[in-house]
Amino acid sequence: MRRHVAASKNKRAPKRARCCIFPGREKREPPRSLFHPLPSSTFTFNLFFSFFFSLFFLSSRAEIAAVYDTPLLDLAFAAARVHRAHHDPAMVQRCTLLSIKTGGCPEDCGYCSQSSHHKKVDLVAERLADLDSVYEAALRAKAAGSTRFCMGAAWRGPSQVGPRQWERVLEMVRRVRGLGMEVCTTLGMLTPAQAAQLREAGLTAYNHNVDTSPEFYAKVSSTRTYADRLATLAAVAGAGVSVCAGGIIGLGEGPADRVGLLHTLATLPAHPESVPINALVAVPGTPMEGNPPPSGLDIVRCVATARVVMPASVVRLSAGRKELSPGDQALAFLAGANSVFDGDKLLTTANADRDDDAALFGALGLKSRPAFLPYGAGSETSRAGAVEGGAGGAAGQRALA
Ligand code: SF4
Repeated sequence: MRRHVAASKNKRAPKRARCCIFPGREKREPPRSLFHPLPSSTFTFNLFFSFFFSLFFLSSRAEIAAVYDTPLLDLAFAAARVHRAHHDPAMVQRCTLLSIKTGGCPEDCGYCSQSSHHKKVDLVAERLADLDSVYEAALRAKAAGSTRFCMGAAWRGPSQVGPRQWERVLEMVRRVRGLGMEVCTTLGMLTPAQAAQLREAGLTAYNHNVDTSPEFYAKVSSTRTYADRLATLAAVAGAGVSVCAGGIIGLGEGPADRVGLLHTLATLPAHPESVPINALVAVPGTPMEGNPPPSGLDIVRCVATARVVMPASVVRLSAGRKELSPGDQALAFLAGANSVFDGDKLLTTANADRDDDAALFGALGLKSRPAFLPYGAGSETSRAGAVEGGAGGAAGQRALA
């Protein structure tokens, strides 16, 4: 302590700018002068700094790799600071994901049980669900505490189906939105016109994961390209719908691919509103059935890096959470995860037990995030009152009033 005081009095001691996100590192040039007058201990400074940190410092893959490679406890600590500057760390959103059209997909994603290419998978393809069953599922999800309802169809995209099925999906969006829930869909590749129709129906967000790095993507799917994925994300953003885009850990990728995945997401024209981090659920009969599962700490590292490089996004702890220990999940929440999927199933695979989740939330002091709390990232569709076009928009407002 005495030595520390003496050093601070030595005016000749060289002043070394320390990074506020990673105190062990020297801060990089510039924009030091920009931040210098601000008190380092304030919320404003943290918010301001971490915003510019991500904007100016973390735009290259090497810089994101440096974050990813940080010793895990330092990384988790840094991510927790960023998280607390941008979000209420006690709030975790609970979402429900329902498969509205299961199996028979013409794509060949190597991890997916729903591809018609993987004949050994024990799954029966189904037709598009009827409106009432989806509405009832949404009602149950809402009663159980979910505030976002996501609907997934195993399609290459809505272009492969006729107008009657497409209109049914749009009506599903309208009716679920009318419950005052946030509504998300994941329907494959979209055209700009389809994205605009979904927006008009009251869609809050559209999920379209890029899965992995651009270099590794060819090992994941051969029936579509990385550029296809980015084109759909552009159509979604162009229609004013919030983007939900993340990836899957455990596809056989290396650390450089995980960095590449996060680099793709962090350098989109705007950070996604939501970033799902999935752990592969290796389904028997798929080409990836023998992949070793990622460790819980691998997932924490990806969550923490996502939090540092996309400070305002909602980071969603998604598929594979059932295999994470309560301790791993707690560390992930500390390091920036602020959403989970609720319910028995995630499309076709098992999800974490609801009672276990309730116990974990209680032990960690977490509370469910209400629908339409303003998100730091994302378009106006993820904010209450923004969507007036869909029948659900006005009804959603009444439910929130
Ligand atoms: S597009 Fe979706 S449903 Fe189809 S195989 Fe790929 S992940 Fe599965």
